[in-house]
Amino acid sequence: MALLQIAEPGQSAAPHQHKLAVGIDLGTTNSLVATVKSGEAVTLPDADGQHILPSVVRYLDCGRQEVGSAAREKASFDPYNTIVSVKRLMGRGVEDVRALGAEAPYRFVAGDNSMPFISTVAGQKSPVQVSADILSVLTQRAEDSLGGEIVGAVITVPAYFDEAQRQATKDAATLANIKVLRLLNEPTAAAVAYGLDESAEGVIAVYDLGGGTFDISILRLNKGVFEVLATGGDSALGGDDFDLALATWIAEEQGLEVDTLDTGLARYLTEKAREVKEGLTDADSVNAQLDYADLKGSVAVSRAQFDALIEKLVARTLRACKRTLKDSGINADEVKDVVMVGGSTRVPLVRERVSGFFSRELHIDIDPDRVVAVGAAIQADVLAGNKPDSDMLLLDVIPLSLGLEMMGGLVEKVVHRNTAIPVGRAQEFTTYQDGQTAMAIHVLQGERELVEDCRSLARFVLRGIPPMAAGAAKIRVTFQVDADGLLNVAAKELSTGVESSIQVKPSYGLSDGEIAQMLQDSYSLAEGDLNRRRLREQQVEADRLLVALEQAIEADGDQLLTQDEREMLLGEMSQLIALRNGDDADAIEKGIVVLSNESDFFASRRMDHGIQKALQGHTIDEIEEKK
Ligand code: ADP
Ligand code: MG
Repeated sequence: MALLQIAEPGQSAAPHQHKLAVGIDLGTTNSLVATVKSGEAVTLPDADGQHILPSVVRYLDCGRQEVGSAAREKASFDPYNTIVSVKRLMGRGVEDVRALGAEAPYRFVAGDNSMPFISTVAGQKSPVQVSADILSVLTQRAEDSLGGEIVGAVITVPAYFDEAQRQATKDAATLANIKVLRLLNEPTAAAVAYGLDESAEGVIAVYDLGGGTFDISILRLNKGVFEVLATGGDSALGGDDFDLALATWIAEEQGLEVDTLDTGLARYLTEKAREVKEGLTDADSVNAQLDYADLKGSVAVSRAQFDALIEKLVARTLRACKRTLKDSGINADEVKDVVMVGGSTRVPLVRERVSGFFSRELHIDIDPDRVVAVGAAIQADVLAGNKPDSDMLLLDVIPLSLGLEMMGGLVEKVVHRNTAIPVGRAQEFTTYQDGQTAMAIHVLQGERELVEDCRSLARFVLRGIPPMAAGAAKIRVTFQVDADGLLNVAAKELSTGVESSIQVKPSYGLSDGEIAQMLQDSYSLAEGDLNRRRLREQQVEADRLLVALEQAIEADGDQLLTQDEREMLLGEMSQLIALRNGDDADAIEKGIVVLSNESDFFASRRMDHGIQKALQGHTIDEIEEKK
């Protein structure tokens, strides 16, 4: 399937008519917009010639807002109305946001859908609204500089973004009145920018170290098709940490008590540190002048000193690379291309260590701040129909497994974590009880074995199943994850064709930190989970037997059982019920065998009785004839 086919009908361009489409890198720290002009992808500057738009929005009491550098300059002066790093809040719930604590010092109010709103002088703003305000500025910039209306945009998101975060990003675009041609994973966009899609095959690592986040993605290119094998990183590691390490060092050099700095001075020192850090990228040493309140003087920092300060932080990124490679089942020496993304990959020590880790030359020719937007623009150009012969298909992965709730509160995984998308998977299920006419479908996301440990995404009910014996109905449940990572679940009863489906629009609220936690739990608790799973399975088995026996006694007990026999069975049943309510899976298993054996006579008596009933009123001859 070509990407081209994803474009909506009527969107393919008439010959010679170039459609204006843009790529947008909606970053945590900085955002950019790019487009393909005369065959070349370029980022677009604002009226002052600035390409990078700081992802900061400040709300004013007149109902207007400032976006970009103007807003960033006011962040410390007007912190409650100036929203920074809003990307960290996208698709998260109130609880997640509270957990962010100091990172987001705003006044939050809970809204519908447990989506958090930020209280500002201009009213309550959701993260989706804030992102929409950033997107509007970028598309307005593009329309001004291209002199026409934009038909659509490709917006990039981190590869690990879950359903809720992707949906929130799409919602932001809708709010900004932008048609989303596609959400594209940031690492995939970077690989496209380097034209790596044009080589035949190979494994690509994308190392993205920005202001506050580190992402590592392992992609595989095969016959022009990208597949994301695995993603990893650290959502709280980036250039800001370099700044902090250097600021702390400068403070100590100046004989300041680091823990007791007031916020203004701390902010001044971090800002200074950032200047020094960026200076050290091109120079071996930098002399910084300090001038803030009582603090006057100068400090000289050599690159070697700076390297020593960030050594441990860089090593942390390499450990994440190692883990992610392991996750993808790839050895470092199998990686053919390493793409560097994010402003912090300009730091020489970072380049040196990453190059050493992969034993490779790195792709650093395209400005690491712009490379994602450039790749998105190339994609947008294809999707808008400007390059009709292109058939590039980009595959991404789902970050956590998707599954269904089974009897006993167990989760059956239908699509496993790290499966490339788009993907369709079907699984057949059956009914649990005789005459069951409806089936509740509960969709979950997570790696653990039990429903209570996974995240609930959606519930719906398939009705109109014809009454049949337990296990006779065949229900096929299909999971379809589209190219944007959005999930559609459908259930169909095969004998009647009764169908029901749901587009999963998850409630906002799963953070990448939680994803990491859920993954970690699934590893460290695996054994405990297996025991609990076995217990639940045995409990389900026990219930099945108990219900069947109860129904049988109800139906035929009066006729086929003596009083003693009935009491014996009821006694055995209550023993199994006691075991079933305990937590010893082995004991329940044994109890099931005992009760089955003890009730065998009743089952065979019922069978005989059933045959007799069927034979009543017929002569032997008739039966012989029927054979
Ligand atoms: P994000 O992806 O988080 O939006 P960017 O990719 O724009 O962020 O990276 C911003 C980070 O890059 C900041 O920490 C900034 O200090 C750092 N940075 C930018 N230029 C340089 C440079 N020349 N040397 C070192 N670090 C730099
Ligand atoms: Mg970035």
